[in-house]
Amino acid sequence: MKKVAAILSLTALVAISAKAFAAAPADTLAEVKKKGVLVAGVKDSLPPFGYIDEKTRTIIGYDIDFVNAIAKKLGVKVELKPVTSASRMPQLQEGNIDMIAATMTKNPERAKQIDFSHTYFFTGQKFITKKGSVKALKDLDGKRIGTAKGSTSEQNVKKAIPTATVLSFDDYPQAFLALQQGKVQAVTTDEAILAGILAKSPEKGKFEIPKVQISDEPYGLGMRKGDKNFVDFVNKTILEMEKSGEAKKIFDKWFGPKTDFHLQRNFKITADK
Ligand code: GLU
Repeated sequence: MKKVAAILSLTALVAISAKAFAAAPADTLAEVKKKGVLVAGVKDSLPPFGYIDEKTRTIIGYDIDFVNAIAKKLGVKVELKPVTSASRMPQLQEGNIDMIAATMTKNPERAKQIDFSHTYFFTGQKFITKKGSVKALKDLDGKRIGTAKGSTSEQNVKKAIPTATVLSFDDYPQAFLALQQGKVQAVTTDEAILAGILAKSPEKGKFEIPKVQISDEPYGLGMRKGDKNFVDFVNKTILEMEKSGEAKKIFDKWFGPKTDFHLQRNFKITADK
């Protein structure tokens, strides 16, 4: 019986990987041009990267503007599919999306599985806490900290504060709700995301982002491993956007002095070494 089950599950595995293989095109650039649409996996509850505009009920944000610029250059339409931190890589690998534009940090571990564009946004990991409760990293020792499943935030915080209890939610707004309800004492992820969550919260006066940073987080657009034509096209496009000033314009639109999320642009889009 055991053997039968093992054979069955092996067959299922082969079938699944064969499907994944068949569904994911090797040359996404050619495929996207042919079908006339670029399907991007994006966040839908993380202002100002990807969130639902109350007026139009469509997803807008910094990440979306990069997708739009790439699609415009290709002369194709855009379809946005919401993803979570944990689902974005499998969605790409299974061919359900053509690219990831979802607050995703590039790191060597992930780069074994997918390819990344040059860095198009740069931030670092911090915390939201109750005002005045945290001055230094050691104040978080032994505390309960909320974050999202499948994120670098989850991995980094476990390393930086081994005594903490890390609670992983599907997304960061859920982790923030747990903080508001007193179920965790801090929420951790990239500062730019935390700033967005705090800016939109009616309770923002009670919370703050202390000057405690535990990592650098460079964001890349994710594409399938070895999808060279597409990676080259995306990189060329975003380097042109930097040169023409379009990339800075997008940054200022979402993070400039007149926005809720005001941040300094401490990076330029340059070719990876
Ligand atoms: N940038 C980090 C990551 O890619 C945290 C944000 C997120 O979960 O999307 O894991």
